[in-house]
Amino acid sequence: MTNVATLDSPAVTTAKPKHYRPATELVHIETSTDPTGGPGSTVRDPYNAASVPIYQSATFKQPGAHGSGEYDYSRSGNPTRSHVESHLAKIMRAQRAFVVSSGMSALDVILRLVKAGEEIIAGDDLYGGTNRLLGYLSQYNGVVTRHVDTTEPLAVMEALNPEKTRIVLLETPTNPLIKIADISAIADLVHQQCPRALVVVDNTMMSPYLQKPLMLGADIVYHSGTKYLSGHHDLMAGVIGAKTQATAEQLYFVINATGCGLSPFDSWLLLRGVKTLAVRMEKQQDNARQIAEFLINQGFRVHYPGNPAHPQYELHKRLSSGPGAVLSFETGSTEVSERIVEATKLWGISVSFGCVNSLISMPCQMSHASIPAHVRQERALPEDLIRLCVGIEDPQDLLEDLENALHEAGALPRKSLG
Ligand SMILES: *Cc1c(COP(=O)(O)O)cnc(C)c1O
Repeated sequence: MTNVATLDSPAVTTAKPKHYRPATELVHIETSTDPTGGPGSTVRDPYNAASVPIYQSATFKQPGAHGSGEYDYSRSGNPTRSHVESHLAKIMRAQRAFVVSSGMSALDVILRLVKAGEEIIAGDDLYGGTNRLLGYLSQYNGVVTRHVDTTEPLAVMEALNPEKTRIVLLETPTNPLIKIADISAIADLVHQQCPRALVVVDNTMMSPYLQKPLMLGADIVYHSGTKYLSGHHDLMAGVIGAKTQATAEQLYFVINATGCGLSPFDSWLLLRGVKTLAVRMEKQQDNARQIAEFLINQGFRVHYPGNPAHPQYELHKRLSSGPGAVLSFETGSTEVSERIVEATKLWGISVSFGCVNSLISMPCQMSHASIPAHVRQERALPEDLIRLCVGIEDPQDLLEDLENALHEAGALPRKSLG
C-alpha cells in the first residue's frame, strides 16, 4: 500500500472530547456549533435537527473545479456515517472509529493489514465466521493463523514470532464457552516481543459499555454492530476503533478502496441504537444474572462470567464492568437439551445475540454446526450445550417459561451439585 499516510479523509477527529459517565456518554451526542468543526461537529445541520439527518446522497457538489468540499462521494465519506463514527470513537476511547457493512466486514478490513508470509495468532474458541475468513486467508493469501488457548498468556507468548507475527486476535469472553483472555497481560507480552504486531480484540460480546479493550492495551477493537450496539436485530453493521492515527489511516484506506462503509440509513439506525445501549445492557445483564442463579441452583453446569464458580471470575472482573447477558449451560443429554429448546415459548430459537428479545439456541446444532464434530470435541464444546441470550422482558416471565420447558423436557427436578 502506498500513499496511505498522505491520504486524507473527512472528519478526522483530533481534539479530545469531554468524557461523562458511560450512560450519559452514550446518549449525549456532541454537536458543536463551532463552524470550523470539532469532534462530533461533522454534521453542521443548518436547521439544528435533534436527530442527525440521513444524508441519502451518493455524491456531493464541489465548490470549484478543483473540488475541496468536505465530502465528495459516499464511499469515501458521508456526513451521517461520520457522525456515528465520531460518537463511537469517543465511547470506545479510540483515536478514530469506522463503521462498515457488518462485523465480518470489519474483520476483513483489519486483516488486510497482514501481508502474505506474515502470521496471525488467534484463539481456539473463535466465532465461526472468523474461523471461516481466517481459513480463506491461509488458503488463498498465504497468511497462516496459529490457534492457541488464549486463556493462557504464555501459550500466546510461545507462538509469537518477531519476524512474522502481525496480528494477535482475541475474543473475550468467547462464545459459547465463555473463556476469558487477559487482554492487558497479552498486550504487554506482544508489544514487548513483537513491536510490529497489533493486538486486535473482537469485543462484540461485551460491547463498549462493559469493556474497553483500547484502554487495556489493545491496538484495534472491533464489534459486530448487529448485536448490542444496534440492539434490535434490524440492521447489520461492523464497528472498528483504532488506537493511533497511523493505524486509522491504513484502515480508512482499505474501507475507501473496497467500499464497505456503512450506508447512510444504517448509520442512522446504528446511532439510534447506541443511544439506548446502557439501559438495554443493564436490564439484560440484570435478567441474565437471575437466570444464571436459577440454573446454578437447579444444579446445572452454567458458563457465565458472573458465576463466582467461573474459573476466571476475578480476571473478567478486572477487564470489564459486568458479566454481560450471554450464558450457556449443560444438561447432560443432547436429547433433553433439544426438548428444552423446543419447549420454550418466550425464548426465540435463533442464532445471534444482543437483541432486546431473549433467544435460545444449541450452538453445536446451529451457530457452530459448521465446525467439524471432531474439532468440536477437541475444543471440548459439549454437544448438549444450550446458549441463552437474555433480553429485556420481565425476568419472572423468562424464568417461568424456562422452568416450564425444563419440566416438560424432563430436566427437573435435578440433584443439586452441592
Ligand atoms: C456476530 C459476530 C461477528 C460477526 O458479525 P456480523 O455482523 O454478523 O458480520 C463477529 N464476532 C462475534 C463475536 C459475533 O458474535
